[in-house]
Amino acid sequence: MSQPDLFALPAERAAQLRAELARYDHAYYVLDAPLVPDADYDALFQELQRLEAEHPALRTPDSPTQRVGGAPLPEFAPVRHAVPMLSIQTETDTTPQGAAAFDQRVRNRLGLGDGDPAVIYAAELKFDGLALSLRYEQGRLVQAATRGDGETGEDVTLNVRTIRSVPLQLRGNPPAVLEVRGEALMKRADFERYNARQRDKGLPTLVNPRNGAAGSIRQLDPAMAAQRPLAFYAYGWGEIVGWADQPDTHHAMLDAIEALGLPVAKQRVHGAGAGVLTDFHARIAAARDSLPFDIDGVVYKVDSLSLQRELGFRNREPVWAVAHKYPAQERRTRVIGIDVQVGRTGKLTPVAKLEPVFVGGVTVTNATLHNEDEVRRKDVRVGDTVIVRRAGDVIPEVVGVVAEARPADVGEPFDLYQRLAGHCPVCGSAIVREEGEADWRCTGGLFCAAQRKQALLHYASRRAMDIEGLGDKLVDQLVEGGIVRVLPDLYRLGLLKLAALDRMAEKSAANLLQALEASKSTTLARFLYALGIRHVGEATAKDLARHFGSLDAILDAPLDALLAVPDVGPVVAQSLRTFFDQPHNREVVEQLRACGVRWDESTRDHDAPRPLTGKTLVLTGTLPTLSREEAKARIEAAGGKVAGSVSKKTDYVVAGAEAGSKLARAQELGVTVLDEDGLAALLSPVG
Ligand code: NAD
Repeated sequence: MSQPDLFALPAERAAQLRAELARYDHAYYVLDAPLVPDADYDALFQELQRLEAEHPALRTPDSPTQRVGGAPLPEFAPVRHAVPMLSIQTETDTTPQGAAAFDQRVRNRLGLGDGDPAVIYAAELKFDGLALSLRYEQGRLVQAATRGDGETGEDVTLNVRTIRSVPLQLRGNPPAVLEVRGEALMKRADFERYNARQRDKGLPTLVNPRNGAAGSIRQLDPAMAAQRPLAFYAYGWGEIVGWADQPDTHHAMLDAIEALGLPVAKQRVHGAGAGVLTDFHARIAAARDSLPFDIDGVVYKVDSLSLQRELGFRNREPVWAVAHKYPAQERRTRVIGIDVQVGRTGKLTPVAKLEPVFVGGVTVTNATLHNEDEVRRKDVRVGDTVIVRRAGDVIPEVVGVVAEARPADVGEPFDLYQRLAGHCPVCGSAIVREEGEADWRCTGGLFCAAQRKQALLHYASRRAMDIEGLGDKLVDQLVEGGIVRVLPDLYRLGLLKLAALDRMAEKSAANLLQALEASKSTTLARFLYALGIRHVGEATAKDLARHFGSLDAILDAPLDALLAVPDVGPVVAQSLRTFFDQPHNREVVEQLRACGVRWDESTRDHDAPRPLTGKTLVLTGTLPTLSREEAKARIEAAGGKVAGSVSKKTDYVVAGAEAGSKLARAQELGVTVLDEDGLAALLSPVG
């Protein structure tokens, strides 16, 4: 963005601003890919308006201040608007004086003196989406068009038909022709959901809901448009033919439009004088974050339609309406660093450290970059100027880099692994990114301070160690008070320490201690599950316990031994290995055992001798009594692995009738060949 040049002649500066704004308009309206945040655009726009007001000779017909929007895309059929679709003047003074100034201007224009009655106004939301004109003839939706340049828009009927809340047929008694004007928008939750899905798939995300709505409406493929759900709210109208008892105020018109079946937002008021407007402004400002969609302000309109006609238009804006904006939800600022944060499940999230910027009503110094792929796709680097978005109660995020502002000494492309030298910034454990996953993770699940609360809650959960009374609030207190740092600390809690906690009665403390004591006697499967190893759910924990029978066997089991467990694939096996290879995790497991956590390993069927541990067998041909599946299950239960082909690493080939090439290959390689009896002997060794 160009800085005002104090020495430039007004004519030069005006020409410079016109060119710059025209470039931004094209990117924003035609390409749906804004180059700068709205706040920057608005500042330049207002500077040009001021210059033109001071020097009317500079006001050229092609000035952005004299027109609306952007040229329609040639891919869509043009629609000439019977009544132009206009813009709205923005009142920059957002204090109560702003509304008072608007009221004063209106009164002056209408020639009203101090003794005359107050003007009635309507106030409503200023939706931050895409303006649409819906044309109904005899109550049927016949055409939907964008605003385009205000005179000519684009025919987007097919895409608009995919918006569920837009009725294809009006209710009641509609006029012969009714053009309803309103805003198509993407709700924040839909926007977040869409982006989360895209991020998981490594695909580009939408910059903001407004862009999402514009992109969806101007999709050439209606099926694609239908995948991005939009909402629509009516706030005005264009051509009307044959409406016998048409209301004569703005608010009654919206009531009537609503009665015809069109969505009208319920956040609107009408009443006498500027006070109604400032109240509305304040009330909506407080509610803004909890609205399901983005708004960039509120709009005040003179309620009486005859007064609206009397006031008329000026430049591209109605004199009878004004927009009162809220702080921008997107601003530009500079990235001064990129940190990596560890979430409660171990997920590593790159976060941009920012020069403080006031955005969406708060000062923001950190913004999420989501994951490594996203940083790379947006190519965010230290030193870059970026656009930061904060809307609703969603955490602030970096939506993009202002490419033209990149300094020569910008940082290197982001590489998460390199940045952390492969270690969790909180606990130093190894980090991993599994195939097909977008996120890197810390593997120090039991030890990592960032994951403490999650680890405790999971450990205590009903299907894990089942420690009654150890819930969210208590875990918060224990962790935040530094009382529990690692899982074994749980078993070192004393009555005094517990009873001293906030809202903890002596009786509940005693109950908790009892539950903790009871939890020590458990099963291997529960214990394994309680450790919270990624990909190790209850079923896998049971499989592991049954297969190995003892914790020690699992702790040191090599990958191929883990792979021999039914239903354990490479991802689970690797996850187990990575987990138990972290010395910190091992230490926690040992301490838990030292605290008295125990299970019975001797009485379980899995504790039978496992004579085939580490052996690889190949089955071929038809065995006399065992089916292929039965033979495989027995070998695996005995700790062996069944492979599909014979190699030098094969220990035994078990051959039945009509054994083919595998038998030949075994003989070629000198691998021991057994029949079913031979296998049976292996499975139940004497002693
Ligand atoms: P505007 O701010 O002048 O307002 C007019 C529009 O407001 C209407 O077309 C309508 O779509 C909408 N609106 C929402 N609620 C309404 C209501 N209750 N009643 C009437 N209208 C309502 O919008 P504009 O003319 O499209 O352009 C200006 C806006 O676009 C500014 O916010 C500007 O920052 C932004 N812009 C940004 C860039 C950029 O590069 N970032 C470029 C061009 C424009």
